[in-house]
Formats: sequence, C-alpha cells, structure tokens
Amino acid sequence: MSPDPQPPAAGCEAVTARLSDAFFARTAAAESDRDHAAGCAACGSFQRDLVELAGALATDAPPTARDALVHQTLERARAELSRHEAATATLPAGYRREVGRLIGATLLPLPLVLLWNAAVLSVGGELLSGLLPTALLQALAAGYVLAGATWLGCLYGSLPLMAHNQLRRRALEMA
Ligand SMILES: [Zn+2]
Repeated sequence: MSPDPQPPAAGCEAVTARLSDAFFARTAAAESDRDHAAGCAACGSFQRDLVELAGALATDAPPTARDALVHQTLERARAELSRHEAATATLPAGYRREVGRLIGATLLPLPLVLLWNAAVLSVGGELLSGLLPTALLQALAAGYVLAGATWLGCLYGSLPLMAHNQLRRRALEMA
C-alpha cells in the first residue's frame, strides 16, 4: 500500500459519509475513498447510487414514466372510477397524458427521498445502537421502511384521482 498523506478514518460508514459529503459539495471524492469504493461492494454500490442520482438531477426534463407503470396505474384508475362513477365511466380526454405527467413529476424527487430515508436509517441506527438491543433496532428499521413504502404506495395510488380531478377542474373552468 502506498503511504497516504492524510490517513482517512477506517470503516465503510466513514467512507460513505465522505463520499456523500463530496457529492453534495460537488467536489471529487478523495482518491483513497474512491479506491476503497472500487474494492468494496457496499461502498461501491453507494457510489453508483450517487452517480445515478447525479444523472437524474442533471436532466432538465422530468424522467418519463415507464409504460408499464402508466398502464398499471391506468388499469387501477379504470377499476376505481368505474366503481365510483359508473354513470360516467369514460375517462376525460388527455387523461393518460396527465397521469404520465404526474408520475413523471413525482419520480423526479424520488431518488432524493430514498437517499434521505437511507441517511435517516443509517444515522438513526448509529445513534440508537448503544441504547437499544439489535433486534428492536431491526424491527424499528423495518417499520420505518414499511411506513415509507406505504406512503409511496398511497402517493402513486392517489395520482389517477388527482389527474382526474385536475382535468375535471380544467374542463369546468373552460365551460
Ligand atoms: Zn466499504
């Protein structure tokens, strides 16, 4: 190993902390950290997530929703709407585009939301690791992840109704 002028703190947590610091400061990570990430599965995956996030943030246009996701959401919307509005079961014009637009808009901040939650889990686990037994910590983390997944599910589940309401409001304003 070549001698390092500033020996970094050991451990993957310190490495990922410095990698994300460098990422948010928009500077290059230290060579020793990049070397570590190249040989470490966990830190390497963390670094690739950052690169992916940078790519997502760099694009001007919101990412386009995948066709399967739009299709699935529309199917759910049709089932929902035909139950609630059997009399007017046809979807308003431009509905598909509106759902796609809403999904695209919510996909844009999603990497940040996920990164934030990963940070909360990591910092929270660190803070509580001396105070609580590991099993309880894991249960807490699982509960947190489940709550997040539920929240995301509710968000995407509500998009079809949001799209429908927006188009209806627009139609009323034009009338
Ligand atoms: Zn590592």
